Amino acid sequence: MNRFPLIQRYSIFVDLPEHSRLITLSEGYTPLIPLPHIANHLGGSFHLYAKYEGLNPTGSFKDRGMTAAISEAVGRGAQTVICASTGNTAASAAAYASRAGQKAVVLIPEGKVAAGKLAGAVAYGAQVIQIAGSFDDALRMVVQISERHPIALVNSLNPYRLEGQKTAAFEICDELGKAPDWLCLPVGNAGNITAYWMGFKQYHEYKATGFPHILGVQAAGSAPLVLGHPIDHPETIATAIRIGRPARGEQALQAAEESGGKIIAVSDQQILEMQRALASEGVWVEPASAAGLAGLADEIQKGKFDPKGKCIVAVCTGHGLKDPDIIAKSMPAPQRIPAEIDALEDLILG
Ligand SMILES: *Cc1c(COP(=O)(O)O)cnc(C)c1O
Repeated sequence: MNRFPLIQRYSIFVDLPEHSRLITLSEGYTPLIPLPHIANHLGGSFHLYAKYEGLNPTGSFKDRGMTAAISEAVGRGAQTVICASTGNTAASAAAYASRAGQKAVVLIPEGKVAAGKLAGAVAYGAQVIQIAGSFDDALRMVVQISERHPIALVNSLNPYRLEGQKTAAFEICDELGKAPDWLCLPVGNAGNITAYWMGFKQYHEYKATGFPHILGVQAAGSAPLVLGHPIDHPETIATAIRIGRPARGEQALQAAEESGGKIIAVSDQQILEMQRALASEGVWVEPASAAGLAGLADEIQKGKFDPKGKCIVAVCTGHGLKDPDIIAKSMPAPQRIPAEIDALEDLILG
């Protein structure tokens, strides 16, 4: 199959300036993986899919937005790009900037970034700077510096990020033949929920694909959109959504309202349970990526939502390999035996 880069495949829907120069790593085209066991466990008689965004080139959906943002930035001559990141934006910006021959500077909150993400940003050659503060502090700093100097900001405040991220909604509609009844996804800085809603609306105008209700899910210790106010010290094991002042919070609330959906919060324990449930269907995701589905499960189990006959897509935003430490912390360690066949037999048969 000839796989056109996303922003060419969907060029009539993705609004990029003329000056853009295509920078791509073959992002997108991620699968919709059926989740029959989880659907059964939640009562059955509905169709449930994971949109497995962990299969993008740097392991998260951020690549969809980054191909667009970097293509625009390099086309206008930007030599340096900068972002604040809980990890995945950093790895993605680093990869696409390197590909474009640009310098990437990434600011990450001290001590709260998963090992695989930090390693990625370093491996792709970014200048990685830890700041003694939160993601929200880092975002404030990169916004300020990009206003003062010719450095391109590639956080999702950059409108081209959303232009690229919309393509996930198009792919879902193309594969299902229409929009699903519900879309559930984690919400951190709220760029992705905003992009999905833009994407579904735009595709419907051209292709009459309909609209999903959107269920946005935050972690309970980091749920400013549920509580209705910013959080100064957000806490959750789901580090990708550990954000107290979502840059696109207003738009996220609007997407939930317009779509007839909502934004809710789930506990870290619910997130980890859903991470395990997904892994037991062969889909290993990082904790944040399980939050959307954990929210759906919560709604169903509390009797607030009847999934019967529905088609539901859970966006699994990033790969489990990004955050190996959480497995070491939350699962039993491997068993250790002498290098002898008897010991092996005793252990697995005995
Ligand atoms: C960035 C990210 C999120 C949150 O997306 P927002 O656009 O910030 O709401 C969720 N999961 C993963 C894995 C991410 O990298």
